[in-house]
Amino acid sequence: MGLFSRKKYDGEHNFPLWTKGGVCDVCGNSLSGKNAYTVPAKEFYASREYKEYNTKRTLDFLSSSQMLADLDATEAQRAAFIESQFEERAKTDKTPSAVCKSCVHMFE
Ligand SMILES: [Zn+2]
Repeated sequence: MGLFSRKKYDGEHNFPLWTKGGVCDVCGNSLSGKNAYTVPAKEFYASREYKEYNTKRTLDFLSSSQMLADLDATEAQRAAFIESQFEERAKTDKTPSAVCKSCVHMFE
């Protein structure tokens, strides 16, 4: 939660349904047979909640990865790097994302 109160997720939203299957672009869970939503790139990358989630998730992944465990960087430096990659993706990625029902609240 940020400084501004957000509309609480109530099961209703404006995103079109995603019917192509695959995996959720946020949590990576399979979408087969589940309701999912199509979030345009603009909204997808504008979500501060998703950006924070992405940074934390990537940091967790890095800390569990033996290959990168010895990397000489503080957690703050890693976070800054992850965020700069996120910003790069935000600039170039124009394709809508598939987002599952449990993650869609980040974009509303
Ligand atoms: Zn998800």
